[in-house]
Amino acid sequence: MHNPIPHDVIIAGAGPVGLFLACELRLAGLSVLVLEQAPDPRSPLKRLPFGMRGLSVPTTEAFHRRDLLSEMAAAPSKDGGAHWAQQQRRPGGHFAGIQFYLDAVDMSKWPYRLPGPAGTNLLVEMEELETMLADRATAMGVGIRRGLGVEGFTQSGDDVTVRAGGETFRAGWLVGCDGGRSTVRKLGGFGFTGTDAEFTGYTAEVELADPDKLSPGRHYTAGGMYTYARPGTIAMVDFDNGAFHRSQPVTTEHVQAVLRRVSGTDVTLTALKLATTWTDRAYLAATYRQGRVLLAGDAAHIHSPLGGQGLNLGLGDAMNLGWKLAATIRGDAPAGLLDSYFEERHPVAAQVLDWSRAQVALMRPSPSSRALEAIIRDLIGTRDGATYFAGRVWSVGLRYDLGGGHGLVGRSAPDFELSDRTRLGERMRSGHGLLLDFNASPALQALTTRWGGRITYVAADARERLGLNALLVRPDGFVAWAADGEPDLEEATRAASRWFGDAATP
Ligand SMILES: Cc1cc2nc3c(=O)[nH]c(=O)nc-3n(C[C@H](O)[C@H](O)[C@H](O)COP(=O)(O)OP(=O)(O)OC[C@H]3O[C@@H](n4cnc5c(N)ncnc54)[C@H](O)[C@@H]3O)c2cc1C
Repeated sequence: MHNPIPHDVIIAGAGPVGLFLACELRLAGLSVLVLEQAPDPRSPLKRLPFGMRGLSVPTTEAFHRRDLLSEMAAAPSKDGGAHWAQQQRRPGGHFAGIQFYLDAVDMSKWPYRLPGPAGTNLLVEMEELETMLADRATAMGVGIRRGLGVEGFTQSGDDVTVRAGGETFRAGWLVGCDGGRSTVRKLGGFGFTGTDAEFTGYTAEVELADPDKLSPGRHYTAGGMYTYARPGTIAMVDFDNGAFHRSQPVTTEHVQAVLRRVSGTDVTLTALKLATTWTDRAYLAATYRQGRVLLAGDAAHIHSPLGGQGLNLGLGDAMNLGWKLAATIRGDAPAGLLDSYFEERHPVAAQVLDWSRAQVALMRPSPSSRALEAIIRDLIGTRDGATYFAGRVWSVGLRYDLGGGHGLVGRSAPDFELSDRTRLGERMRSGHGLLLDFNASPALQALTTRWGGRITYVAADARERLGLNALLVRPDGFVAWAADGEPDLEEATRAASRWFGDAATP
């Protein structure tokens, strides 16, 4: 007798990307098992001061659309909960440590963005984020098995058999969310190419005998770069071609030697409380899918944490992949839907990798890099410059190339405040597509009905329509079709079929 496949999807890795993807797949009704190598999810490296992560606008929007944002804003953290970064005369972000300021940014550059809960950057502690996502996933019925690292797998035409911790698991699909040194990527034969490390980066919590020898803030020096925040948090970059990273234990003596070299001082360390190293190695998978095996997050792309975009990139992968994989497994996906995951997300990752490389170019201890730094400082201080850097750092300019159409197509849907005071994002919690119709047109309603539960029809006016009459939003919140004037029903039907598959005949 044929054995039924016990899980629709196995996810390797219970990091933020694996957990968020598990929630997305479960929301779509799939059975999901997460296998995590580490027996204990807690780590001092995931807590303050090292574990702080900046969430970009697409991430806060995704969390808003899944009702995770309010939970996060309420989560207790050591300094009183997650903090909204958007305040007056506050730094809005940085490029290689060179700040731009919020009040210099021209927000009118993004006409389809409405102020609201999801429109800003948010800082969270990694451990809080993972705990929240794990709790959500468990409450939804995702199985999470810790202490079981994926060691191998084989795939057939129908399923994938995964070996982990001496046990065997079977599922229809396997997604590697197992981080930068991904076993799934390595065993799956995914191409992985890019540029090698120029430096070893250090983040350390130290005690200093003579802290006044270091001045607070970020400093480019003849030896590299260091950032010092009182009382004793240090980040450093040492241009050693990445030779030290993971080659030997990080000792007090070594950190002191590097700090002395890059700072050009004779500062003395009396204790090393915590330290981690990283590099600027920037590599990208050549494909995100091999048969029934997929990659997402750091498993698919690695780069230096400069500019803090890796987590956001990975969560964006999960939001993009979840509904497409679910439709593929249900059997109602239109042709090419799953391939569009790679087509849309690979260019975004390539851009992020280049953004991190550009920052490395500015950080090198060379006269040409200092000259470049001076130019960037000038540019970032202008309104156009600050706006450009904000667009890149916050990822507000993100647009998938969905092939022309209205200027909103391929962009994140504006978070309209509807006539009943709800926001559009709140109407997206089911994970279905959504057709928002400001004019309650019976023809659009009839059209939507043909896709059954796959598209929710919402007829409601909005406080600010932004010149629109109707729009079709994919489950990930990106706009598939929009109309300013009288809706073109044929165009709307084409867009719905392209993203939601075959419909019942009218
Ligand atoms: C110092 C530093 C600062 C950063 N700051 C930012 C920031 O401000 N903003 C930002 O967006 N990003 C930032 N990043 C990057 C961000 O932390 C990562 O991009 C993000 O954690 C990637 O998430 P992930 O789930 O893909 O991988 P991970 O977080 O690495 O999770 C992978 C999980 O898979 C598990 N695993 C590994 N191998 C296996 C296996 N064989 N089987 C099963 N499980 C396995 C691991 O134990 C882990 O739990 C920073 C990174 C560093 C190092």
